Amino acid sequence: MPQPNKSKPFPLSNLNDGRQLVRVRCAYCKRTHHYFPGDLIQIFGDVDVDSLMQRMTCEAGDHGLMKVEAVYPTGKEAVGMKIRRLVAIKIRRVPVWREE
Ligand SMILES: [Zn+2]
Repeated sequence: MPQPNKSKPFPLSNLNDGRQLVRVRCAYCKRTHHYFPGDLIQIFGDVDVDSLMQRMTCEAGDHGLMKVEAVYPTGKEAVGMKIRRLVAIKIRRVPVWREE
């Protein structure tokens, strides 16, 4: 089935000009965070911005889909705006076993 409302894929790298940010909002607890596209690319790869709605989860719990949009803050908005920077990616070690 064709999806007429589905816009073209818009990869994160399209935003990565150093000025645009990705705003992620949890509708449940009303938290909003701003991220640099480059940080998100490190985690998710250069994926479609809309697909982040499914990929990102609220840090406070399982609150369903996140609202994700690209924003271009004006100079005034950018003042004092907190941006959530990637500090590290922790790799979880998962043991895999087999009987011999
Ligand atoms: Zn939440």
